[in-house]
Amino acid sequence: MNQEKINFNAGPAALPATVLQQAANAVLKYKNTGISILELPHRGPEFLEIIEESKALVKELCEIGDDYDVLWLQGGGRMQFSMIPMNFLSTGDTAGYIDSGHWAAEAMEYGAYYGQIQVMGSSRATHYNHLPEWPSDIPNHLKYLHITTNNTIYGTQYSDIPKVNVPLIADMSSDIFSRKWDYNRYDLIYAAAQKNLGTPGVALVIVKKDMLSRISNHLPPMLNYKAQVHENSILNTANVSGVYISLLMLRWIKEKGIANIEADNNNKAEILYKAIDESKLFTGYVQNPAHRSKMNICFTAKDKETELAFLELCAENNIIGLQGHRSTGGFRVSIYNSIEVASVRTLVELMKKFETNS
Ligand code: PMP
Repeated sequence: MNQEKINFNAGPAALPATVLQQAANAVLKYKNTGISILELPHRGPEFLEIIEESKALVKELCEIGDDYDVLWLQGGGRMQFSMIPMNFLSTGDTAGYIDSGHWAAEAMEYGAYYGQIQVMGSSRATHYNHLPEWPSDIPNHLKYLHITTNNTIYGTQYSDIPKVNVPLIADMSSDIFSRKWDYNRYDLIYAAAQKNLGTPGVALVIVKKDMLSRISNHLPPMLNYKAQVHENSILNTANVSGVYISLLMLRWIKEKGIANIEADNNNKAEILYKAIDESKLFTGYVQNPAHRSKMNICFTAKDKETELAFLELCAENNIIGLQGHRSTGGFRVSIYNSIEVASVRTLVELMKKFETNS
């Protein structure tokens, strides 16, 4: 299957051609069921197999054991912004949040509906163009510390997370499975699927079993992690096709191997940052190399006219999705796992051609 365009959108994002082909086949007929994946019952044996295989693959890829539960929930990333404080924070309790970007700040705002929020570091004053300094002291009374490992809009990413003395919760929506990573350090991990893991609306949640005993709030089952674990993510009519596409992505990740994925991601980021840093027309948004994301690469042009001209040239060359987020402007090139090194080379060649002709 040939994609007509190079798609650098931040999410929904490009999916590997093989995954698209498998998804297309399943839309016509799922295995030997005689029906489409879009018609597959959520309580039948086929979907149970999809759930079980995907859970096993998540555990294998994360190298985590049976002390974790794996869930596929609906409502994307923002539903997790809500469920985390609903489950783990009560009036009078305090949770720590690191304010490293737009999504981190939104998660924090959602938290404030349920308890006290302590900001444990922020780079908001400089429009999130670097990572906040890691907190020197984390109070033991915090119910959890929430971090965002990759800040999709500004293009910053943690390369390491220090050990912490309170439950650690991470939004890994835009960098899960992009590199070797110690997932065992976390008490709850979540990721909206539409970047490295499939299609929108689905969220992967990996929760340590002992976190479930901390849920004291009285919640409707859909919003309660314990109830979702009990029902194996099939509490209501599950997003069967969405979870299936995530399973296809997990199989693709396993086949390629995280080490190879990481090597390609390093290579793509290096090629693109080098081109930006050598350019006289473009400037990187994040200057500190240690804070730069390998998933979302943000930069600006020297003026609006140059920005529009380059976007137009990209569109003429079938390269799409590199406008920056509506809150920042400029460019953002999202080079998630599915983006091939060759696509980044094509973009860089065009940047050089543009610069020569300007
Ligand atoms: N967290 C991060 C890091 C994101 O990049 C996004 C969306 N781009 C979200 C959360 C929100 O996800 P959703 O739109 O699925 O609510």
